[in-house]
Amino acid sequence: MDMTRIPEIFGCMVFNDTVMKDRLPKETYRALQKTIHDGQPLDREVANVVAAAMKDWAIEKGATHYTHWFQPMTGVTAEKHDSFIAPAEDGKVIMEFRGKELIKGESDASSFPSGGLRATFEARGYTAWDPTSYAFVKDGSLCIPTVFCSYTGDVLDKKTPLLRSMEAINLQALRILRLFGNTDAKRVNTTVGAEQEYFLIDREYYNRRKDLIYTGRTLFGVPSPKGQELEDHYYGVIQPRISAYMKELDEELWKLGVLSKTKHNEVAPAQHEMAPIFTTTNIAADHDQLTMEIMKKVAERHGLVCLLHEKPFAGVNGSGKHNNWSLSTDTGVNLFDPGKTPSENAQFLLFFVAVLKAVDEYQGLLRAYVASAGNDHRLGASEAPPAIVSVFVGDELQAVLDAIDSGKDYHSVSAGKMRLGVDTLPAVPKDNTDRNRTSPFAFTGNKFEFRMLGSAAAIADANIVLNTIVAEELKKFADELENAEDFRASMNALVKRTVSEHKRIVFNGNGYSEEWQREAERRGLLNLCSAVDALPMMIEKENIKVFTDHKVFSEKEIRSRYEILVETYSKVLNIEALAMIDMAYKDYYPAVSSYAALLAENAARKRQVGIECESEVSISARLSSIADDIYRNVLKLKEDREEASKISDAQEAAKVYRNVVFADMAKLRASVDEGERITAQEFWPVPNYGDLLFRV
Ligand code: ADP
Ligand code: MG
Repeated sequence: MDMTRIPEIFGCMVFNDTVMKDRLPKETYRALQKTIHDGQPLDREVANVVAAAMKDWAIEKGATHYTHWFQPMTGVTAEKHDSFIAPAEDGKVIMEFRGKELIKGESDASSFPSGGLRATFEARGYTAWDPTSYAFVKDGSLCIPTVFCSYTGDVLDKKTPLLRSMEAINLQALRILRLFGNTDAKRVNTTVGAEQEYFLIDREYYNRRKDLIYTGRTLFGVPSPKGQELEDHYYGVIQPRISAYMKELDEELWKLGVLSKTKHNEVAPAQHEMAPIFTTTNIAADHDQLTMEIMKKVAERHGLVCLLHEKPFAGVNGSGKHNNWSLSTDTGVNLFDPGKTPSENAQFLLFFVAVLKAVDEYQGLLRAYVASAGNDHRLGASEAPPAIVSVFVGDELQAVLDAIDSGKDYHSVSAGKMRLGVDTLPAVPKDNTDRNRTSPFAFTGNKFEFRMLGSAAAIADANIVLNTIVAEELKKFADELENAEDFRASMNALVKRTVSEHKRIVFNGNGYSEEWQREAERRGLLNLCSAVDALPMMIEKENIKVFTDHKVFSEKEIRSRYEILVETYSKVLNIEALAMIDMAYKDYYPAVSSYAALLAENAARKRQVGIECESEVSISARLSSIADDIYRNVLKLKEDREEASKISDAQEAAKVYRNVVFADMAKLRASVDEGERITAQEFWPVPNYGDLLFRV
C-alpha cells in the first residue's frame, strides 16, 4: 500500500457522514441527521432516497448484495445476503434497494438462541436499521447494522440492550450535570476502546490438531521447554511474517473505519495485541466484532490461524480484552478527567464514587457478564485478573479517598500536604497513571479499564452492565441532590458517605496474591471461580431490578439470556469432552500402545542375540501402564459425559459438567501428556506446543 494514501483509504468502505453529505440531497441529509442524533423516526420517502444513494455507492465499491448485519446471542455477528437484483423487462435485471429494505428486514429467528423467548409457532423475527452505526461494504455486500427482535418485541440481540443502556446513563448523567449548572451538554455518551489480544499459529499445524479445530484450544499437550519465562516476547521485535499480517490487518480495518492504533507482541510466545482508539460504545461494539472477524480472515491469507480463545495453551498466558470505558459529553468533556476548578473537581469525584458504588453493589453482575467456559481458564488463574472484582485507584486517589473518608488533611503523594476546608473536597491531581496490571477494574487517569473480559467476548455484554449500574447510582445521587436545600453541603456529604460505605471495593495491591483472596473474603467480596458459580448472579433479585428499572431488559429477557449462557457452558464442555474422547481413542492411545509394542519387540529381538535391554523394557512397561491409564480415563469420561448430557435441568447439568466431566477431562489430559513426554516424536500424532508456539 502507498502509505501516503492512508487518510484516503481510511473509512473508504463506510457510508459515513462525508459520503452522506456528498451524496444525499440537503433535506434528506438533514432528516437523516435528526434520526441519527435525536432518534426521530425516518419517514418512508427519506428512507427511499437514502437507500438509493447507499445502493449506488455500494455498487461502486463492488457490492452486489446487501445484508442486515446483527449481533444475536451467539456472541458473533449474523448476516444473510440478498442481492440487489430485481427482474425487469426482456428478461433483464435492474439493481434495486428500497427504503423499506433498508429500514426493516424479516428473519427466521428460530435458529438463533432465544432461551425460550420465542415460541416455536412464532418463528419470525425482524431486524431494524440502527442508523447510529454507519453502513459499510464488506466482501461484496452492503452491511447495514441492525437490531434484532422477535415479533412480540422481545430482544434477541446484544445491540438493542446496549443502545438502551447508553440511553439510561445519558439520562441520569445529564441530571447530574444540570445540578452543576451545565446547560450546554445535550448528551452524555459512554466511550470504549477495547484492546484485543490474540494468538497466531501456522495453519499447517493447526489443521493437524482436532482440538483446535473443534474447540479453539489445545485439550492436550506438554509445555515446550521454553515458555514465556524469559519475558522476551512482550513488546519484542515483530518478526516479518507477523509484521506482514499486522500491516494487512491495519489496512483492512482502516478501510472499514476501525481506528486500529497500537500493535505489539504480547507476553506469551505467538501472542499479540491490537488496540483501537476509543469511540462511542455502540460503534466500538460493532468495530470489535469486525476486528475479530477480520483478524481471522487476514490470517488465512498468510497461512496462519488467529486464535481468539481465552486460553488456547495451558501454562502460558491466555488472551483477554481490556474494555477501557469512560463518559463524555457531546461538548467534548471527559467526565472522568479530574478538573482544575473546585467545581469540576467535585463533579469528577461525584461521578467517580458513583462508579465505586456501582462496582461494589453489582460485583456479581459484572462477574456474571464476563463468565464463560473459556474465560474460566483465565480468571483466577494467576495471570489474568482474579475472579474477585475490585477497583484499583492508585496512590494519589487513594490518599484523596482516605482524606474524604476520615475528614482529615489530604497528603498528596506528589505535592505534599494540602489543607481541607470544613466541607470542601480535596483537589484531585491529574495524571495519576496506573501501572497495576493485576487489577480487574483499574482507574487509569481519565477512564476505567475493565480487564476481566475474555478475548472472544462480545464487548456489548460488559458495557450493558457497566452503563446500567452506573446509571442506577447516578439516578440515586440525582434523586437525593435535586431535593437538597444546600446542594454543595449535601453533595459533599453524599461523596463522603459513599466513600465510607464502598471503600471495601478499592484494592491497590497485587491481585494475583493469595493474601488478597483472604483479605477479599474478610471484606465480604464475592469470589466466583467458575461460570457455573457466576452466571446465577444474573437472576438475583437486585440484579434483575436494576435492568428492569432502567428499561434495558425485561425480566423475561434476562432469564432467557441466563438460560442461553448456562446451556452454552454445558455445550462447550460437551464438545470438548467429545473431542478428547475422539482424540484419545483414535490418536493418542494407538500412538502410545504402538510405541510400547515396538520397544517390546526390539527388546525381544535383542534378547535373542544376548543383548541387555533394560531401557526398552522399562520404557515399554511405563508406556503400557500409561496406555491403560488413558483407556481407564477415557472410559470414565465417556460414561460421565453421557450421564451429564441426559440431565434436563440446565443449571444442574452445568454443575455436573463443571464438577464431574471437567475433572475427568483433566485426568485424561494428564495421562495423555504423560505419554507425550516419553513417546518418540515420529509416533506422536499431532504437532506439539513447541511447533504451535515457536514455529509460526
Ligand atoms: P494501556 O492500557 O495498554 O496502557 P492506554 O492507556 O494508552 O494503553 O490506552 C488503552 C486504550 O484505552 C486505547 O484503546 C484507548 O483508545 C482507550 N482510551 C483512552 N481514552 C479513553 C476514553 N476516554 N474512553 C474510552 N477509552 C479510552
Ligand atoms: Mg490496557
